[in-house]
Amino acid sequence: MRKVQIALYFFVISLLAAYQRTDGADPQHADQPIVPPADALSRLKEGNGRFTAGNPQHPHESVDERKYMALNSYENAGAIPFGMTTEQAAKRRTELIKSQHPFAIILSCSDSRVPPELVFDEGLGDLFIVRVAGNVLNDEGLGSIEYAVDILGARLILVLGHQSCGAVDAAMKIVAAKGKAPGHIQSLVTALKPVVDSMPKGDLDTMIKANVKHVVDALRSSTPILKAKVDSGEVQVIGGYYTLDTGAVTFLEGK
Ligand SMILES: [Zn+2]
Repeated sequence: MRKVQIALYFFVISLLAAYQRTDGADPQHADQPIVPPADALSRLKEGNGRFTAGNPQHPHESVDERKYMALNSYENAGAIPFGMTTEQAAKRRTELIKSQHPFAIILSCSDSRVPPELVFDEGLGDLFIVRVAGNVLNDEGLGSIEYAVDILGARLILVLGHQSCGAVDAAMKIVAAKGKAPGHIQSLVTALKPVVDSMPKGDLDTMIKANVKHVVDALRSSTPILKAKVDSGEVQVIGGYYTLDTGAVTFLEGK
């Protein structure tokens, strides 16, 4: 009986120790680089600069890179570096060896003209992206974003709206006509309605930017995960606006 009690005691102690190990600052990413929000923003700006200049580098998306990433996953660490120098391979392995480790999270519209990886000239493993028409925030999207912050260690969240957004345009028209969109499209109108209602005289562009701000505010004040990290400065949530004809992203506000 006594042996069972002692065994149980050590079992509980080991459980507590395991719990404490996961309770510190990003212990699961101790060997991975956390990209601070300001650095992540600089990287997005540089990538968009390459895109608008017509000089994309298409990083991290070659066939070799793809194979390398697959082989260097948590389940299959230490594979062949596929033509990289030893230094490059070591750097990439540090970044990817345990899991994906995106440096930024983007909540953007589903619009086919605004694919974030192209707009920011990034590749595999770089961006964690949630796309919903009108870049609206639903529970599943929020859960995905929280996962990328809490588990994957991303520290910058960008809400990206864009010129001529059809979802916002449709919501404005349907709300003005007091109508209803067919099928589940109405759920997008319902999500956008508070913003539309708050600016009865706003034009499309004003409304698109107001919607970005609305979603930025919702993320910044979201409890229990995001708000504390935003307040402490650990995580930054910003808005952006993509102009279709120039390809440029304007960052609407910082925090
Ligand atoms: Zn759109």
